[in-house]
Amino acid sequence: MHIHNPIFIPGPTNIPDSIRKACDMASIDHRSPAFAEILQPALQAVKQIIKSKAAEIFLFTGSGTLGWEATITNCLSPGDKVLIARNGMFSQRWIDMCQRHQLEVQIIEKTWGDAATQTDYQEILQNDTNKDIKAVLLTHNETATGVLANIKQVRQAIDAANHSALFFVDAVSSVGCMDVRFDEWKIDGLVTGSQKGFMMPAGLAIIALSEKALKATETATLPRTYLDVKDMRNSYKNNSYPYTPAVGMMNGLLVASNMLLTEGLDNVFARHYRLAEGVRKAVQAWGLELCANDAQYYSNSITAIRTPAGFDAGKIVSHAASKYQVAFGVGLGEVAGKVFRIGHLGALTDVIALSGIATAEMTMLDLGLDIKLGAGVAAAQEYYRNN
Ligand code: PLP
Repeated sequence: MHIHNPIFIPGPTNIPDSIRKACDMASIDHRSPAFAEILQPALQAVKQIIKSKAAEIFLFTGSGTLGWEATITNCLSPGDKVLIARNGMFSQRWIDMCQRHQLEVQIIEKTWGDAATQTDYQEILQNDTNKDIKAVLLTHNETATGVLANIKQVRQAIDAANHSALFFVDAVSSVGCMDVRFDEWKIDGLVTGSQKGFMMPAGLAIIALSEKALKATETATLPRTYLDVKDMRNSYKNNSYPYTPAVGMMNGLLVASNMLLTEGLDNVFARHYRLAEGVRKAVQAWGLELCANDAQYYSNSITAIRTPAGFDAGKIVSHAASKYQVAFGVGLGEVAGKVFRIGHLGALTDVIALSGIATAEMTMLDLGLDIKLGAGVAAAQEYYRNN
């Protein structure tokens, strides 16, 4: 008999049955009115989730990485300067993409486990008196380390420097888990994907652009065809697409978005905080350290856990998979072998989180780490019972 265990990687996440069924639909004509009944409400629902009235949403067949590419290629030109902090594998990959697109990338180097702060950005922006920096890039939730940046404060850095740069935010692993306020924080380009907070399979890149970003598309010369939002906007006016869209995924997005909105965004965020806090209590009980160095910047969608020096953290992931059929996340890049990651985002309850914590305990004990069975589970149980 094959029974699925819940998955504890930081995306893709567990998929609720109703979302899975919504994605698995019979083909319809994407040039018929039936398509408009999926596309338009899905776009509107995404706007509500990112707290925007002003944004235009674009859905591409792809993943978060394509969302990065759509944002930069539509709004920037070769040689344009961008400012971005590097504090983990995902910010690193976005930097690499910018460089491959011939952008001039100014990097704020941070220790992996730290967050880039308002001061880090502000000093550089204030010194950029010629306004050479065309875009400020921020990885909201660094999924490699479990560090959550403060979007509002980085916005304040841009404003305090009286800077005109566009503000692009990678919110791939935060939208639908933690608060993102597109309008209030004056974000110009926001990137996310279907397989994290939206609890769907991978397959959609979701981006939101501000009026200022859309204006920038008129003069931006980085090459793009499939990703050109001009074509998308023209098609959207007629409820159609410049190519064959992934209709089932859009139907899934509509159902997923409505599920989040029905639960209530504040409740969704509170649930993610609770789940994360229980996991953090367990880590403390194990006597292990988080990769994230400062409680102010803890992520509520993923926790990266440092293992003792000399121990290969990757063994936890392979052993849990082979012995218990449970998936945890490996360490990436600089922290490969040094951390393992527990994803606690999407469709998850206290009880499901406890099963992940219990599995991590059995695994670590099997591998000879000094862990007392039940210690982390008890700490999390105590937290979940009382909160
Ligand atoms: N940005 C962040 C913060 C991510 O966590 C990921 C994927 O995990 C990506 C970007 C890349 O997204 P994708 O793997 O969907 O292309």
